[in-house]
Amino acid sequence: MAEGALDADRRVEPEMPSPEALGLVHAADWVRRAGTGALTLDEETMMELPWSRPGMEAHALAAGGTLAAARLALEGGLGLHIGGGAHHAFRDHGEGFCMFNDIAFAIETLRREKVVRRALVVDLDAHQGNGTASIFAGEPDVFTFSMHQKDGYPQPRQKSTMDIELPTGTRDIEYLELLRSRLPTALDGHEPGLVVYQAGVDVHERDLLASLKLTANGIAARDQFVFAACEDRRIPVVLTLGGGYAPKLEDTVALHARTVQEALAVYHALPLPPTAGEGRGEGS
Ligand SMILES: [Zn+2]
Repeated sequence: MAEGALDADRRVEPEMPSPEALGLVHAADWVRRAGTGALTLDEETMMELPWSRPGMEAHALAAGGTLAAARLALEGGLGLHIGGGAHHAFRDHGEGFCMFNDIAFAIETLRREKVVRRALVVDLDAHQGNGTASIFAGEPDVFTFSMHQKDGYPQPRQKSTMDIELPTGTRDIEYLELLRSRLPTALDGHEPGLVVYQAGVDVHERDLLASLKLTANGIAARDQFVFAACEDRRIPVVLTLGGGYAPKLEDTVALHARTVQEALAVYHALPLPPTAGEGRGEGS
């Protein structure tokens, strides 16, 4: 918005999901204990987050944010969530800064409502979307596409519908070639009614927690390709941000903002939310 790309009236306030709603993709026991801070030290260590009530509420609200943005995508083709992408959250535990899996939550809520039957997750964060893969294991209607660094976190790997493992130091050209050869096959084979894009920017060459070597221009080309691939096929796409750990926070923000710019460039403009002007607030 500071760059003039988006107007404030295009923002939508997400709703806080109830524990019962989160139970659609999470074990009731995990929702209850994560919701109240009754976690073991091992669970907090695995999640790599100290529990706090505001932190927990932010994670739960992010699930509502991805759902709200997905609804906008179904109406207008594109929904932008300036958060979410908690792909390391499993059904019954959290990992890697992730407590509740907003990607799975949005997809399963819409599938239960029967507004979406088949969905596809495009997970281009530097790390495997292990939680999402685990939640959707054995569910043929949800295709999990994960392209990530071969070594390092997370271990052990889960099995996505399609995993593409990248050697340490993979650069723009090799990365984009792989993406361009594999993603269209997945989209055309599965014909999803919704794509959830986890656009982690930790694939950047200076990221502190990953080992890939994409430039900012390479990431922009990646994002442009994903949005154009969805737009060409008239598949609604919802953006979630995912990881990003540049040495300076403002550099991570700039990379995420550029992803939003790439989406807007493909879609030319963002449709006004249908509820704008009816008392809905701001947010997603
Ligand atoms: Zn990551």
